[in-house]
Amino acid sequence: MTGQRFVYMDHAATTQPHPDVIAAMLPYLRDHYGNPSSIYGIARDAREAVEVARQKTAATLGAGPEEIYFTAGGTESDNWAIKGTAFAQRKKGNHIITSAIEHHAVLHTCGWLEKQGFTVTYLPVDGTGLVNPSDVERAITEKTILITIMHANNEIGTIEPIAEIGKIAQEHSVTFHTDAVQVVGAIPVNVKELGVDLLSLSAHKFYGPKGAGALYIRGGRRPDSLLHGGGQERKKRAGTENVAGIVGLGKAIELAGTDIPGRTAVIRAYRDQLTAWILAEIPHTRLNGHAVQRLPGNINISFAFIEGESMLLLLDSFGIAASTGSACTSGSLEPSHVLMAIGLPHEIAHGSLRLTLGEENTPEDIAHVQSVLPGVVSRLREMSPLYQKMKEQRVS
Ligand SMILES: *Cc1c(COP(=O)(O)O)cnc(C)c1O
Repeated sequence: MTGQRFVYMDHAATTQPHPDVIAAMLPYLRDHYGNPSSIYGIARDAREAVEVARQKTAATLGAGPEEIYFTAGGTESDNWAIKGTAFAQRKKGNHIITSAIEHHAVLHTCGWLEKQGFTVTYLPVDGTGLVNPSDVERAITEKTILITIMHANNEIGTIEPIAEIGKIAQEHSVTFHTDAVQVVGAIPVNVKELGVDLLSLSAHKFYGPKGAGALYIRGGRRPDSLLHGGGQERKKRAGTENVAGIVGLGKAIELAGTDIPGRTAVIRAYRDQLTAWILAEIPHTRLNGHAVQRLPGNINISFAFIEGESMLLLLDSFGIAASTGSACTSGSLEPSHVLMAIGLPHEIAHGSLRLTLGEENTPEDIAHVQSVLPGVVSRLREMSPLYQKMKEQRVS
């Protein structure tokens, strides 16, 4: 190691587990390793710890503990909510409404259901990434059995009008799922106020461990199970519980739900400061996503005449961990479906940088990005024939 500063600005991809989360988990890896389904002491300890985590999760979401089901993460929760509802209600209808900017855990699940005979409406979004609730209402037919719209987008940070859509879903008696993976800990989440029937979350997005998530299922809703086997999770989700992971989720969601305005105020201030600075200091840039209805830590900026992947590699060489679009699409040459949906031309979408800030970022981190980014951008632009051509045209 060179002792170079390391700046992590990819909190939308994952977060570093909080020290209290790790401390809470360790006893359940080391000592209380019993299977929660067994009857002796170390099993009882594990069983009780799972129930405590369930209560903490329920309390943070304004739900009842009996409405919380633990899963292996956001992807499983999304799959369960969507496939489970589709198959449970397929006698009633075969139509699903979603948006064009969902996470692939939702989009690819919907795509798979299309192959099973379901039809899916992919609603467009406006230039800031907002879904229009009246579009949702207009798309509902006699056959509609599920609306699934994300709470906030993982790439551009736009926060969707979930409570308004929830009202519409209730008026039409259509089951409503939201992927809230990006919002837990960022803004308050209350399932009653949102009017959702199903809600997905994932611990590693709020300083918990990877491979632990939950699905909120409103009492009375009965999606089919995704995993069949033992009788765990009140016979709805088979498989021996990931006890340490669930304990970590419980601790993390307790922390995430505490003093949200206080904890996010600093992150929000850094976000606004860095965004304004980049837009002012670096020419040919634009902010993607909504100016106000936006996750506290999300910055997504397009740099004309630049290839996002090369920007990431150079930033990495300066110790800055960032992302273009979503981590799942990086490595492929397809431009982000989210940036295409908000109307960006291909070449602009390709030059987009996502910086997502979190709790451990400091003013020094912001300063490091400010000292590195302009040089990275001009170095890459100097290599761009399009940029050279543009400059020549300006001069003549
Ligand atoms: C990260 C993410 C997921 C997937 O969650 P995993 O726990 O990584 O499977 C789903 N939806 C959104 C919006 C996400 O950001």
